[in-house]
Amino acid sequence: MSQATLSSNARPSMPAGTQVVPITVTHGDGIGPEIMTATLKILQAAGARLQIESIDVGEKVYLSGNTSGIPPEAWESLQKNKILLKAPITTPQGAGYKSLNVTLRKVLGLYANVRPCVTYPPFVPTAHPAMDVVIIRENEEDLYAGIEHRQTDEVIQCLKLVSRPGSEKIIRYAFEFARLHGRKKITCMTKDNIMKQTDGMFHKLFREIGQEYPDIQQEHMIIDIGAARLAAQPELFDVIVTLNLYGDIISDIAAEVSGSVGLAGSANIGEDFALFEAIHGSAPDIAGQDKANPSGLLLAALQMLTHIGQGDVATKIQNAWLRTIEEGIHTTDIFNENCSTQKVGTQAFADAVIARLGQSPKFLKPAVGGQKNERISIKLKERPLAKKELVGVDIFLQFNEKDVEKMANDLKHYKAGNMELTMITNRGVKVWPNGNPATFCTDHWRCRFKSPDLIPSEFQDVLNLMFKLSLVGYHAIKMEILYTFDGEPGFTLGQGQ
Ligand code: NAD
Repeated sequence: MSQATLSSNARPSMPAGTQVVPITVTHGDGIGPEIMTATLKILQAAGARLQIESIDVGEKVYLSGNTSGIPPEAWESLQKNKILLKAPITTPQGAGYKSLNVTLRKVLGLYANVRPCVTYPPFVPTAHPAMDVVIIRENEEDLYAGIEHRQTDEVIQCLKLVSRPGSEKIIRYAFEFARLHGRKKITCMTKDNIMKQTDGMFHKLFREIGQEYPDIQQEHMIIDIGAARLAAQPELFDVIVTLNLYGDIISDIAAEVSGSVGLAGSANIGEDFALFEAIHGSAPDIAGQDKANPSGLLLAALQMLTHIGQGDVATKIQNAWLRTIEEGIHTTDIFNENCSTQKVGTQAFADAVIARLGQSPKFLKPAVGGQKNERISIKLKERPLAKKELVGVDIFLQFNEKDVEKMANDLKHYKAGNMELTMITNRGVKVWPNGNPATFCTDHWRCRFKSPDLIPSEFQDVLNLMFKLSLVGYHAIKMEILYTFDGEPGFTLGQGQ
């Protein structure tokens, strides 16, 4: 671990926004060290008020036998400084290495991933000259909880977990972000036509919270058409808020169609911690050649400066960077015969930006910002607990014979409390009663025991039922209790029910 102060003329006694802010920096792998050196050089020249503590994470740490990629002393630095500027790292090939990015997001509670995707026509060629989208992605939940189980010979499950506080936090964050940055419209993307409970809650919360922000235009799109429109007409969008997996996919689509993956940065924001990085990887193919474009990391660092209340420095650097881009001083990845005037390496690009500090772009839209602290803090709405009643249970069984009538005949004799067999599904599709023989069935069956009128039963009834079934050879591989919340079913129907 090493320390350095970037701006020597700032003192801790200065007013908020002018104080030296301690941050943790990782120089990463591959092109990481080159682009970090270039970025820090620009920050220093622009007068960023930072006390830097460098830590090692990534390939070296993985290969030393630490499967998490991050050593204890790095955690100490993060715990203390709470802000991380991270260069890309290389995750070694092979099983057993845990993704450092996912670990950092989850351990540090970085619930919001904010990724601006902007085009810079005509200086960086693009098919979408009017694109200026910010994708705000929920960063901790959804299928990324990584809870997977093999349940039968044929079926493996991955749990999609979506929480109300998690959804509310990211949706409120998106609205606050839009207000703070003068954005006009938010598009929420979900797949609630299929996932009526999880995505349905996200969409419902978007509508509910949206009522507190009448100044912002609001719309909802099903993720598939939303992703297609984003790819074809990104200029239709302003801010997009969505769940983790969809956000992961559409933020790469947006970066790709902007024509400049090397120019995008991203912020991962939590209540106490924040992490800033370029969206690209460690590019081992060009490492050590002074060819990499440092812009993605630089723009992430500008998000960081804004976050810690040094928006004045961020604005100054952004304008110098825009001026450099429009003067055609380009690294290899964006160099083109029509608009580029000079092909430069990583460090020369940084020097060109430094030489333009204090200048504004002539053609591209200049950045405007201030010194205000732009940290967004979210307060969740207090909600009373719902009245929760047990009305049934879905018992999942492995049944290799695949004869649903036999299975139903065996199971329908078993009742407990007010629960009786009402439905059997296979991969979500109802196959009993009145199934269609054409439905393909695996060895994984869901047997729904429920009170037809939603009359409550006891938890003990569920245990008795499972015990009785196990005595005749039907061993549960999993169960899901069916509850109502204030009388509303907290479960969906079977497909075809
Ligand atoms: P990559 O983003 O590193 O590279 C893809 C292509 O883009 C390469 O041709 C590369 O030369 C080019 N490129 C990337 N950044 C560039 C830049 N700044 N300037 C110019 N060209 C650039 O993706 P990859 O090759 O799939 O992954 C390489 C390594 O990076 C892998 O080990 C992967 O796990 C890791 N990775 C890390 C992060 C992270 O730390 N956040 C993110 C993605 C990938």
